[in-house]
Amino acid sequence: MEASITKEGAVLLGEEVSVDAHSHRPYRVITHAHLDHILGFSESLRKCKKVIATPQTKEILKVLKENISEVEGIEELSYEETIQLDGCSLTLYPANHIIGACQVLIIERSGKRLLYTGDFRLEGTPVVEADLLVIEATYGNPSNRRPFKGRVKEELLCLVEIELEKNPVYIFGYHGKLQEVANLLTEGGIDVPMILPSSVYKVAGVCRKYGMKLGSIFLANSPEGKRRIREGNYIRLQHSSSSHRVKERVTKIYLTGWEFKAPCKKIAPGEYVVSFSDHGDFDELLEYVRMAQPSLVITDNFRVGDAKVLAREIKKHLGIDAIPMP
Ligand SMILES: [Zn+2]
Repeated sequence: MEASITKEGAVLLGEEVSVDAHSHRPYRVITHAHLDHILGFSESLRKCKKVIATPQTKEILKVLKENISEVEGIEELSYEETIQLDGCSLTLYPANHIIGACQVLIIERSGKRLLYTGDFRLEGTPVVEADLLVIEATYGNPSNRRPFKGRVKEELLCLVEIELEKNPVYIFGYHGKLQEVANLLTEGGIDVPMILPSSVYKVAGVCRKYGMKLGSIFLANSPEGKRRIREGNYIRLQHSSSSHRVKERVTKIYLTGWEFKAPCKKIAPGEYVVSFSDHGDFDELLEYVRMAQPSLVITDNFRVGDAKVLAREIKKHLGIDAIPMP
């Protein structure tokens, strides 16, 4: 088969390219900077002929990785530019997920098109026609639908506005989502200082450089950041991993893609879950496959999700052959 997924999570496209984990291929592509997509990154930099990513992803990795000189070894490839490898061509297409995220298209000498979507939301992601499609399966279960998704941003804005009347507001999420929320609050006219810890602040800097509108953001441990915190009216954007450490009297909002009942739910006094995802839901995955018109689909069964169920549903609803891997 021309594409497969190894048990280490590498998406192999054709003979030469490995995506999102290391494998014994001359070329390695990184679709985006999330941890489950940069697997074996150092090994690829040592062993592959080229390690390729978008300029945005390279910059994000520079601010998140300690070993910056290693990251310098990544070769940049912008969206929709094509490079020739030894026996095929490689093009990266945008994916609406985290800044810099891309889809990977390989066209073999025979003209056969092999595409890996990486992680994506359908809105803002161009559908690329392919003969063989490898697709993410995070929300691959038919129960993973968000029929209310058009209302989520508005409800989040409302909630933040109401809660700011009482307390500072803490918002917990992952890189990408947090910066997107900072942009949403800015464009929604919420003119309150946003306090960011170092890594979130640095990633926000890259987002701003590439055109994202971000209002008054402050580094948490800078003199200015500390002053804003003392003044008491602020929003703090934190990585999800730090939520258990917050003991102050604040409102806590958790961003999660795993809430399918309502856009916003109160889970305890002063604690809310907002159904904010950077992955498409079940309907979006199916719609992508329908529009890409492949003759075979491989669903990613390495990363978190429901690849087996998604493969079954693709066969059932679209009549297209689909298999989960590994
Ligand atoms: Zn991701």
